[in-house]
Amino acid sequence: MIWKLKAPRKIQHFLWQVLSDSIASCSRLADRHCGTDKSCPRCGHEEESLNHLLFLCPPALQTWALSDIPTLPGLFPSESLYENFDYLLLRATKNGAPRNVLARFPWIAWFIWKARNEKIFNNTQILPPETVLHATQEEENWRVAQILASQEVTGGNQHTTNGNMENESPYPRCQVDASWVTNSPFSGGGFVLELAPGTVTYGSIGMDQTLSPMHAEFTILLYAMKNFLLLGVTSMSFESDCLQLVKLINDEEDWPAMASEWNEFIHLLSLFTVFSISFIARERNVRADLLAKGARSKNSIFSHVDSVIPGCSFKCNANKWNKTDSEWKVFARKPSYDSESSSLATTASDKLVEPPEPVSEVTQQMSEEGEDSR
Ligand SMILES: [Zn+2]
Repeated sequence: MIWKLKAPRKIQHFLWQVLSDSIASCSRLADRHCGTDKSCPRCGHEEESLNHLLFLCPPALQTWALSDIPTLPGLFPSESLYENFDYLLLRATKNGAPRNVLARFPWIAWFIWKARNEKIFNNTQILPPETVLHATQEEENWRVAQILASQEVTGGNQHTTNGNMENESPYPRCQVDASWVTNSPFSGGGFVLELAPGTVTYGSIGMDQTLSPMHAEFTILLYAMKNFLLLGVTSMSFESDCLQLVKLINDEEDWPAMASEWNEFIHLLSLFTVFSISFIARERNVRADLLAKGARSKNSIFSHVDSVIPGCSFKCNANKWNKTDSEWKVFARKPSYDSESSSLATTASDKLVEPPEPVSEVTQQMSEEGEDSR
């Protein structure tokens, strides 16, 4: 039923995760011993269950009330998550709710979740009217994009399906790349983060050989996303020279072989305020490419994030990269993002990032059991 909803795959996945109870509410994290506080970060209610978060928390309740979807006292929203979804998916239409209004419900749930994350991770208050507005606009944009796509409008404007995608972005930029060769026991990944012009941070990761080059590309993107969340950075424009990866994400293509990466991606995406990924030519991605190749050639599992280019093999290139001093102060605020909340984690994230001392080499061994890409 969820998969038949007219909504982008990221939102379908989100709703599927809600219904399969794999979204990390505070209550669920506490049950899994990943935290001790079950209470709701938005209203202080003693237990933040998924149903509370999405339907009963006062800002959520207000959002539904403002949404035009008919609320019925005692029936919707109710104390049961499944009853609420049963209402939205089936009973509301039978009760005469207009279909075009009901069509918005996936976006409303998604934006309630995002508003809740904004509160937790950025301490930003998004009010219910804004949530309704975001949901309504995104639904409209998406619907129009579907109509345009079905009419096969020329121009290959593939980024319009997602309102977050932008080509010229004012947000921090991160170039990612992976290195994968047949029969090697290890793959490598690299990223080059520019938080502001001239403020560059390099990351490299050595990982077990992935199933395919595409898996390696996706894994390094997920690794970078997790790192940034841990550092409190929730707006990012990614760049990759892997056209397949960019298309997979922007066009929400269905790649069953990438299902676990995709699930984790959706989870991480929901924690970003702004996310985009665009294609760049290989020549413009040389630094990330070198980092990835260097990481693979180390033949070990490790992760490294620093403002200094890691590994002596790159020192000769350092000057032409205009490297600058560390700006780790930017990252001083460590967010409460808990990597355990990733329900389908595929890579080690719990040991990855501690902001290193400036100009010092920090290499951390990742645990074997955490590196699970199969
Ligand atoms: Zn609440």
